[in-house]
Amino acid sequence: MEKLNVSSLPELPFAYDALEPIMDARTVEIHYDKHHRTYFNNYLNAAKGTPYENVPLEEVFPVISKAGNAIKNHGGGFYNHWFFWNSLGKGKTEPSPALMAAIEEAFESFAKFREIFSNAAKSQFGSGWAWLIVGKDNKLAVTSTLNQENPLMDIAQVRGLPLLTIDVWEHAYYLKYQNRRADFVEAFWDIIDWEAVSKRFEKV
Ligand code: MN
Repeated sequence: MEKLNVSSLPELPFAYDALEPIMDARTVEIHYDKHHRTYFNNYLNAAKGTPYENVPLEEVFPVISKAGNAIKNHGGGFYNHWFFWNSLGKGKTEPSPALMAAIEEAFESFAKFREIFSNAAKSQFGSGWAWLIVGKDNKLAVTSTLNQENPLMDIAQVRGLPLLTIDVWEHAYYLKYQNRRADFVEAFWDIIDWEAVSKRFEKV
């Protein structure tokens, strides 16, 4: 799986308007340039002078309960948004045959998987994320996390390697969808970059 370089904020992998009309340009701009950038800056400040400075977050998350809330919140926000942006794109809407087979094994069908993932996103109370992960048993699973937590963290209720995520904080959809999170979640299926998700799966 690709690793996040913690020394700089990676560029958004597409133009602000690339996901229109599902994700409008203004939302993407604020989400990346304000929210994501702020998590990155706050993460740098939180990690500075600690044993976690310059350590890849993929190595910090498994011991996050020792690293403290500031690194958990801001490091999580920095990482989760990077992972989210790199799961999105247009016109790459088919999982690879190997990933599709694993989805069908774990969830019976793609339709059933879509329903379970969507329900996890819609029912996450307050701010957080829904995830498709490869679990400890090497099977695919769906889980959700609070705030800026993620399934790589030792505090996660369900741990595993993330393949796909959706941000269900209000800032991810409020300008266009207002309170209609369910509409955003359904629309999200048309901007998943299944090529990227499949590549992650094949590297597990
Ligand atoms: Mn967000």
